[in-house]
Amino acid sequence: MRVTCLPTPTPDPSPQGGGGQTLRRGVCPGLSAPLPTGDGLLVRIRPLGAIPLAAFDELCALAAKHGNGVLEITARGSIQVRGLSAASAPRFADEVAMLGIAAEDGVPILINPLAGLAADGIIDAAAFAAELRRVLARRSLAAKLSPKISVTIDGGGALNLDAVAADIRLRARLSQSDALLQVSVGGDAASAVPLGNVAVGDGAAATVRLLDALAKCGRHARARDIVAAEGIAAFHAAIAGLLRGEILPSVTSHPAELIGTHRLRDGSSACGIALPFGHADASLLNCLIRSAEQAGGSGVIAAPGRTLLAIGLLPAAVSDFAAQAKQLGFITRADDPRRRVIACAGAPFCASGQMATRAMAPRIAEIAARLHAGFTTIHLSGCAKGCAHPQKAALTIVGSPAGCGLVADGSAQDAPFAVVTTDGLPAAIAKYARAPKRREARHG
Ligand code: SF4
Repeated sequence: MRVTCLPTPTPDPSPQGGGGQTLRRGVCPGLSAPLPTGDGLLVRIRPLGAIPLAAFDELCALAAKHGNGVLEITARGSIQVRGLSAASAPRFADEVAMLGIAAEDGVPILINPLAGLAADGIIDAAAFAAELRRVLARRSLAAKLSPKISVTIDGGGALNLDAVAADIRLRARLSQSDALLQVSVGGDAASAVPLGNVAVGDGAAATVRLLDALAKCGRHARARDIVAAEGIAAFHAAIAGLLRGEILPSVTSHPAELIGTHRLRDGSSACGIALPFGHADASLLNCLIRSAEQAGGSGVIAAPGRTLLAIGLLPAAVSDFAAQAKQLGFITRADDPRRRVIACAGAPFCASGQMATRAMAPRIAEIAARLHAGFTTIHLSGCAKGCAHPQKAALTIVGSPAGCGLVADGSAQDAPFAVVTTDGLPAAIAKYARAPKRREARHG
């Protein structure tokens, strides 16, 4: 079997520099379009649904054979392999293509990670997304859109997509006895602007019309920018003929927690674990696969929040699987302090990196946990680009030629309140955490 891919969007031709090299940013590098980074070429795979255990096992082996042996799962649930060379990348692509891993290479459509497998959900988001992909495959829209454009289809299950930002959001809602899709644009569930509701049967047409509206605004247009500059008029007009009923009030869902045990419709269980700081050695993942096999598992799903769900587990064997995952160093508890630390690839893996983010991350997580500082998020950014977390964080530590800059309640691009050496970081973080009002530390 070969990888199933929808048409590849035309690569963004605009070179955007990084680390003195001419690198293409904002491009999702599929197997055929690896992206140069500081440690060679990077390939990003967006799997469609579950990957059989044997195929994932082999993918990890190929990452070690052709790359640097580290796999990453991104905040949006893509898999990345680094350290490929110009010679090994095509061989990697050829060998991965034989694994039968269904992957997406058009406009990213994110669905609930257990869509079609879990018993909850108002609609089957997996089936809906498959139909939408078929519709989009018949058009050439992807080539006219920013490679960063994405769509979320939330079928209404417990593992919602509220925290995942997207240009176009469709969320199943129940209105009296009717299932509707609530359509919104430009953000996560809290920040996106609602346009109204469409019938489930009109959801694909509405999405295509909204993507058309985005394409008319240019190759780099993003929904949130259009909403901020011009409001929602163009989007509203695009789907006006499909809207029905009043705008339903937004629902506040509990944050989706993928880590832990989930019951599946077929009576088996899924168990979610997370990769510390979003990456893991391929050999550790191979061991994890062995554990999943012993627990009766059938596959894995790479999911948002840098998580991995083992599916098809025997309910009685889930605790053994989780215990072995913990022993291997994976995150198996929702309150693990490592989950609060986000680290980009940094030095030496990224040519722009001024700070060894990954090497520092475990220590920073430990310090923050010991201080009981209540930081919601600490972002370690190798440079001011802030790739791993463009949003604000409670504390951002950003690498620069001058040292490690500390930014309070801001992003990697904001001005730091202090710049210290790597060795000086523990004291600087402690001082900031102890400040009666953390604002004081910005001037201390
Ligand atoms: S933020 Fe990190 S990954 Fe992004 S360019 Fe800078 S060092 Fe590289």
